[in-house]
Formats: sequence, structure tokens, C-alpha cells
Amino acid sequence: MANKEFPFTGFTSLAIHAGHEQDPNYAHLTPIYASSTFVYDTAEQGMRRFSKQEEGYIYSRWGNPTFTEAEKKLAAMECFGITDATGKPLVAKALLHASGMAAISSLFLSNLKAGDQILSHYSLYGGTQETMDKVLPGLGIEAVIVDLRDLNKAEEALKAHPKIKMVYLETPANPTLQCVDIEALTTLAGKYGKLVACDNTFATPYLQQPFRYGVDFIVHSTTKFLNGHGTAIGGVLIGRDIEFMTTRAEKTMQLLGGNSNPFDAFLLVNGMRTLEVRMERHCHNAIEIANYLEGHPAVAKVNFTGLPSHPDFYLTTKQMRHPGAIMSIELKGGLEAGKQMMNRLLLCTRTVSLGTCDTLLCHPASMTHYGVPKEQREKYGITDGLIRMSIGMENVQDILIDLEQSLKGL
Ligand SMILES: *Cc1c(COP(=O)(O)O)cnc(C)c1O
Repeated sequence: MANKEFPFTGFTSLAIHAGHEQDPNYAHLTPIYASSTFVYDTAEQGMRRFSKQEEGYIYSRWGNPTFTEAEKKLAAMECFGITDATGKPLVAKALLHASGMAAISSLFLSNLKAGDQILSHYSLYGGTQETMDKVLPGLGIEAVIVDLRDLNKAEEALKAHPKIKMVYLETPANPTLQCVDIEALTTLAGKYGKLVACDNTFATPYLQQPFRYGVDFIVHSTTKFLNGHGTAIGGVLIGRDIEFMTTRAEKTMQLLGGNSNPFDAFLLVNGMRTLEVRMERHCHNAIEIANYLEGHPAVAKVNFTGLPSHPDFYLTTKQMRHPGAIMSIELKGGLEAGKQMMNRLLLCTRTVSLGTCDTLLCHPASMTHYGVPKEQREKYGITDGLIRMSIGMENVQDILIDLEQSLKGL
């Protein structure tokens, strides 16, 4: 076990060791603490635990040793190599949740109240967008949606809506991959005294660290690249204001009951150890595949921020280590070509979601968005021939062979 004082200089050293505590029974890995409650030696000890005079676990909705390792690792990864205003290493607190959506709900409900507004971009993860459309209005919280790639529009919105309390970013965004400038928007929000939160799911802390630019909160769906193996749903809320995180945010999570569970937390901890190694492979494969597809006669367009032809290429270079491993292509042959390509796949997996070892392909027009009228889905950029791809870690030549044979003659 690494000494607590060890000054990690590399991301993977930190990802492997950070947050690990010596197990009382000397188990190498932190076990799955499948226990709903924790016991006390005496009534007095119970009192001290409940009054927070003594650290210790009470009830797994409030905390569990397996969650703690995941939380400490996540916070350490998001703070890696960053110093605070006084020059000391940045510290943050993470709260592990049942899902990305549970973490986002805790973020909103711990920070916003009736009468508040939230400023965001029109391209967001569907669940987040629906929460803003269908859940927040019932609580008296309104979302102001503008194109946050346009800083003038963002500033106009901040001026016109003094009740905006938080600016909510997601970059790269699901599913369009649109990126927004975290540094510029955080500086702007700071000028108007607003909080900033960023969904960092697509990038992961290895590719992008929003705390570098001063955002207040980071959320993740850990279901994707952080877990990396598609074995568990999970989410995390990470904040720099430790006081807020240990009071309001923690209380909100505990009372809403959006906690994780020990088995999923264990799978996440083990997945996260290899995040850098996996992301390097995912991203390396993605660049090769994007270059191949850009020259393919069946492909009208490749949406990938790693291609100089993409409008967000320079922004991605500025705020991300690599442009990630999610891309979409538009097939010239439309709906029929999309279906045919999907049906011909021999190696890649036909499914939604992203961030697993295998390459995942999804055809929104015949799958996730089948029921959505054509005009409506096209407004979101989901055309008939759009295929979304989460590039996996297979040997790249095998992915290329599969794409070649499935696109042949289309
Ligand atoms: C998947 C996803 C979510 C939601 O996470 P769940 O774990 O499915 O609840 C939120 N944001 C982004 C960007 C996602 O990709």
C-alpha cells in the first residue's frame, strides 16, 4: 500500500493507489462491504458517531468503506496536479451516487431553490435536458438555454436573467460532441458571481480537468469510461467547497437516497485503476478510425473533434489531453444504409451507451430515436444516416476490418 505522503507524479500511480486504506483484515483490495449498518462498541460510541465527534460509518445510505475508496480516488483524479489560490494542492470532496442522473439531481437540488434559474447549452445529455424540462419547472426552477459556444449570447443571458444562480456545462456534449470553452465561461460566470458546474463524463479526469479553470462542481456518469467495463451504473458529484459538500450536498444525497451500493462501487474502483491506460488506447484507436472514415466513399461526414475539419478542433486541443473516443458519422445512404451497416457488423457491438472495452455502434434513427418524428430529431442533428460510435480497445486493425466490410458498397 502506498504511503499517504507519497507525492504522485503520474496519473496512473495516483489512480491505482489514491483513496486506498489498509483493510483491518489485511485484504489486498478494499472488500465489498455488503452491510447496511455498522455497529458500536458502546452506547457512548454510537452517540459520538451520530454527533460526528468520532469518524465512523453508521448506515450505508450515508456512507460505506467501499464507497469511500471510490470517492477519494475520483476527487484525487479531478484535483491531480492542480494548486489552489494559495499554491497548495487542490482538495475536493466527492459523493458517490447510484447513477449520473442521481448525482446531477443532488447538484441541482442542493444548490437551487424556487425562483432560481440555471443557464445552459441546448446540446446536453437527454436525461439532463429532460430534468430541466420536466422536473425543475415543477419546483419553480427555470432553465435558460442559449448557445454557450457564443460568449456574447452567454453574457447577454447573464445580464437579462439576474436570477441565474448556476451555469451548467457539458463538454464534449452527448450526443452531438459540441464543446464549450470551460475557461472562458467560468471567467464570465465569475464576473457575475455565478456558480459553474461541468458534466465531465465524455472526457474523464484523465483527458480534461474542469477544476483547472475554477469550476465549482464536476459531475460524472461513472457508468461510462470511469467504470470502463460496462458492469455498473453510477455517478459522482465532486465539489471544491468542502464545507458545502459535507453539509448541504451530503445531506441532500442522504435524504433523497441516491446512494451507490458496495458491489457497484467495488467494480468502479477496480475499473478506475486503469483509466489512463484504457483512455490512451481508446483515443489512439479513435484518431486512426476517424482518419479512415473521413476518406470513405460511403461516409458524408465524420463528427470528431480530433479532426482539423471539426469546428471545435482548437478548443479541444486547448482544454483536453486527447479529443476522446466518441464520434459519429453520417452515411450518404441514409436510413437504409444505417440499418444495413448495423446488421453487417461482425466484431463491433450494436448497443447504446459508451466507454466500454468493445467498440459500440448505435443507429439513433432506428434505435434510440425511432419514435421521434424525423423533423424533430433532425433539429438535434440526428439524421437518418447518423451512426454514433464509442471506439473500443480492440486492436485497431480489427475494428478497421469490421468497418470496411460493413460499409462495403453502401
Ligand atoms: C450517461 C450520461 C449521463 C447519465 O448517467 P447515468 O449513469 O446513465 O445516470 C449524464 N451525462 C452524460 C454526459 C452521460 O453520457
